[in-house]
Amino acid sequence: MMAEHNYKGNVQSQRLFERGSKHLVGSVNSPVRAFGSVGGDPIFIQRGEGAYVYDADGNAYIDYVASYGPMILGHAHPRVVSAVTEAARAGFTFGATTEQEIELAELIKSAFPGMDLIRFVNSGTEATMSAIRLARAYTKRKKIIKFSGCYHGHEDNLLVAAGSGVVTLGLPGSAGVPEEVVKDTLVALYNDIDSIRELIDRFPDEIAACIIEPVAGNMGVVLPEQDFLKELRQLTEAHGIVLIIDEVMTGFRSKFGGAQEHLGIEGDLVCLGKVIGGGFPVGAYGGRKDIMEMVAPLGPVYQAGTLSGNPIAMTAGIETLRILQETDPYPALAETAEALEQGFKQIAGDLDVPLQVNRSGSMICPFLTRQPVRDFASAQ
Ligand code: PLP
Repeated sequence: MMAEHNYKGNVQSQRLFERGSKHLVGSVNSPVRAFGSVGGDPIFIQRGEGAYVYDADGNAYIDYVASYGPMILGHAHPRVVSAVTEAARAGFTFGATTEQEIELAELIKSAFPGMDLIRFVNSGTEATMSAIRLARAYTKRKKIIKFSGCYHGHEDNLLVAAGSGVVTLGLPGSAGVPEEVVKDTLVALYNDIDSIRELIDRFPDEIAACIIEPVAGNMGVVLPEQDFLKELRQLTEAHGIVLIIDEVMTGFRSKFGGAQEHLGIEGDLVCLGKVIGGGFPVGAYGGRKDIMEMVAPLGPVYQAGTLSGNPIAMTAGIETLRILQETDPYPALAETAEALEQGFKQIAGDLDVPLQVNRSGSMICPFLTRQPVRDFASAQ
């Protein structure tokens, strides 16, 4: 949305797009930036400040995307800028451990007390991929359950589209992912506990892990219905299935901590990303000590990274979490999102456009339908 109405055109963005197309795939480094679903060519951002981003032509926009989550404090927060600048002066990366890694882990644990041990990685994808490997090693089982419409990054095992409306064995959701690779990925239906029961009945003692977004944010926003997550917790526990709560999007988003806290469940493993890096590439997985102790160097599950725990990225995360802890912006964020929700509803009502708005704190999604949206099928 334009912050000012003096639109200056998109000549520079067009030029950059043409130049970029000669060198970068589709002129982008992540497909959602290509504007494929919304039309038009990508805008090129020059800078961001607070709630605004400015493109190469000098147009200002209110940024509702916030880099898909990390920029919860707005762009270039002065405290984060100064912490990162100071950290950079001390060197960028050492291939050895720094105190910043411990500090960020301590801050995360203050909000996620169930995470006995943590491992930092470079993205949400790495976090979920590593958590799945670990759960398989821990249980000595192969199969995993994911939910249709949930996204956990682009790792082969998790890139599985749901069968249409039925609980089904996974099919590859991307070219280049062989069926053998996803044959152990089972797809359940969000908000449908019976779909999990069926899979467990069908494959008793074969399921290593169940991974879920506690509030789904990747099929639009879909909230878990009453008791769904609690029942999921009970079922997974009863059957020795490692429950992986993917809080890459929800972590530190609706409150200081995770969605699981206010939803009243605890995962065996938790995955984090986005906000904990304050805009730098950081992911993390962690959880129960007996499971995490299987990760190298303590145990036999190999997982590593040249830049994992990078001190500049850790510093951005530390400062971001400190500011969130000190200022508690969450009620204000929720209020702003609620005002947006009311605005959507009023306009839709005035124009007689069908509308459902799903919202969890500042995660908000309008759906142009009269039916409640509670799973992937209704979201579609
Ligand atoms: N898990 C969830 C819930 C996500 O929303 C995302 C990214 O949007 C990921 C995992 C993957 O994170 P990344 O893009 O950092 O690899």
